[in-house]
Formats: sequence, structure tokens, C-alpha cells
Amino acid sequence: MTLNQQWRLARQPIEGWPTDGDFALGSADIAEPGANQALTRTLYLSLDPYQWGRRRSGIEQTGEVCHGRTVSQVLKSRLSGYHEGDVIFNTNGWQEYGLVGQDISEFGYMHPRVLDISQAPASSALGVLGMLGLTAYSGLYVQCQPKPGETVAVSAASGGVGQNVVQIAKLKGCRVVGIVGSDDKCDFVVDSLGADACINRKSPDFVDQLQHACPDGVDIYFENVGGEVFEAVLPLLNKSSRISLCGLISQYGNDDAASNHARWQETGAPVFATQQVQVNGLFVGNFVADYQQQFLEEMGDWVRNGQVKYKEDIWQGIEKAPEAFDAMLKGENFGKTLVQVTEDPVAKVL
Ligand code: NDP
Repeated sequence: MTLNQQWRLARQPIEGWPTDGDFALGSADIAEPGANQALTRTLYLSLDPYQWGRRRSGIEQTGEVCHGRTVSQVLKSRLSGYHEGDVIFNTNGWQEYGLVGQDISEFGYMHPRVLDISQAPASSALGVLGMLGLTAYSGLYVQCQPKPGETVAVSAASGGVGQNVVQIAKLKGCRVVGIVGSDDKCDFVVDSLGADACINRKSPDFVDQLQHACPDGVDIYFENVGGEVFEAVLPLLNKSSRISLCGLISQYGNDDAASNHARWQETGAPVFATQQVQVNGLFVGNFVADYQQQFLEEMGDWVRNGQVKYKEDIWQGIEKAPEAFDAMLKGENFGKTLVQVTEDPVAKVL
């Protein structure tokens, strides 16, 4: 009999970065869909930095199936609007099979929905045409309002969010400087995404290189990482520059997590004051109601006509989820991190 392989959170409290023993692989019977439910098989599982925050803060409890957004295929349906074979966006978590029902999530972008896979590959609903694309669009385009000729600096520029920021900024006529963690990523950000320059944050002369790449200073900084990268960008911020404070991933393993934003603010405060920097805290959920439709139309067109490309870092098999998650948090991913849980029947057709 086929079973449902699944990862559960093995212990609490969780400290520091992921370690062996935080997750336990087990199996369970595959559930039968009840009234107003559909049984789905996970095709792709999205691994995202925020999942570590849920685990560390106790939102996710010991013994629970680890949370994660997914693209799945409907196997059996007793749910109106969902038919066998449909490919859907849902939240199966770190497991091979899951039920979807009429439940509506707190955030619009997490509502289950049937995907139109004639328009874009299914996995893109977890990246460029999903929450990560909307994050880039909201932070850069809506909050920071880039103008042609301005310099935009982006950290984690090859990652799930960053790669979209680079390309949207270029489409808006900006000069774009990426910051990444390897030379290979630098090449990708310049050669494939079209950035004007990209600096390896691990280079011994990173600070000098960054300064050299921004001769006119920085007008917009899209902040994904914090820490030393932020401190290198700070002196380059121009008068009336804007920051979208999207994430501080370099700090997510710090046990003093509550003070991370405070430290970032304190370090930045003198420059924010003298340069009259507009700092925009970003939470993508706040942009769904007003911008998701506009984003899907505009970004959908850019993706379909090749103006926006995307790179995925795909691991094979649900058993790889913790390893892939750990690699992403350490910066070893190259593109949007996904686990392919089952062969994608749609990818073959496209
Ligand atoms: P990425 O695909 O960008 O992967 C994470 C990247 O972070 C790594 O590839 C690495 O890039 C970089 N990184 C990891 N550790 C460090 C470190 N110690 N110092 C500097 N850089 C590091 O992930 P996502 O695109 O999913 O997420 C990017 C950011 O966006 C995260 O901070 C996340 O929390 C945030 N986010 C915020 C949202 C919001 O609503 N505000 C919504 C979605 C995401 P490299 O090695 O190339 O530097």
C-alpha cells in the first residue's frame, strides 16, 4: 500500500540554524477526501526563509507536518471547482499528499486556487508568478517607485525575490547593482538578468568593489539580508533614497532574533536622518488586495514574452526537504528553492 511520506517538526524550542534532529521523516495513510475536500499529490514544495521563523517562534508545533506552500495535482475531488487532474496552488506542507478544502487562508496569496498551466509552468506559481514575484513588485515598484536612471542595489540578487527585483528595476530603466554570495551568481545576475554590475559579498574587497560599482551612490536599496551587506550599502545611500526592508536573512539563526530589526534600525538611524532616507517595512500580505491582480497581469506578460526570466533550484524527492532548506538558509541555493516531490505531468506536455 502506498503511504504518504511526510516531515514533521521533531522538537522545540528550536535554536540557531537548522540541525540534524529538527525534522523527523515518517509516513501516514493517504487520507480519503471528505465532503468539500479534494485529495492532492504534491508536485512542488516551496522552501522559504519565513518557514524557519514559524518554527523558531512556535507557530509550528512539535509533531506537526512542516508548513510549506505547494503546487499539487488533484487525484480525487469532492470539492466544487476542483477536478481530477487539475493542477493547483495549495499548502500541503512537507508531505507527498494532502487534502484541500474550502478553508480560506488569512492571506489572499495563500488561498488555494486552480492554476492555468497553459499560461506558465506550474512551478512558477511558487516563485516569479507567486508570492516572491509579488514581494519584489510590491517592495520595488510600489514602495520605492523607481525612476529611470536611478541606481538600485539588491542583496541576494540571484535568489527567489532578488532575481525579480533586478529585472523589474531594469525594465523601469534603472542602473542595477546586485550583491550575491558567489562569482557564479554574479555572472548570472549580469549575463542573464541584465544587471549593470554584481558584487560577490564574500570578496575580501567587497566594500570597495561595491562603492566602485555605485559611482553615483544608491537611490534604492532592496534589503534581503541585513548584517555586513547592509553596512556596506549604508554609506552609499543618496539624499532622499528609499529602502524596501524585505528581509534580514543573515540574522535568522541569531537567538536574539527580537533585536535584529532594532539593531538594523540603530545602525542605520544616523544615515537615515542625515540623508532623509525613506525606510519601507515590507510585508507582502499587505499588497495582495490592491496589487495582486495588476502584478499577475504585468508580470505574467513579462514572463510570457521573455522580458523576465527565472531560475529555480530544484531538489528531487521529499526526503531532501531539510537538506535543501538548510542549504537555502546558508546561501547555497542558486535561484528559487523548490523540492520536486512527484514528477510534473504537466511539464512534459508544455
Ligand atoms: P533566496 O532565494 O534569496 O535565498 C536566500 C539567500 O539569502 C541566499 O541565496 C543567500 O544569497 C542569502 N543569504 C543567506 N545567508 C546570508 C548571509 N548570512 N548573509 C548574506 N546573505 C545571505 O530567498 P527568498 O528569495 O525566498 O527570500 C529573500 C528574502 O526575502 C529573505 O530575507 C526573506 O525572508 C524575504 N522575504 C520577505 C517577504 C516579505 O513579505 N517581506 C516575503 C518573501 C521573502 P547570496 O549567497 O547570493 O547572498
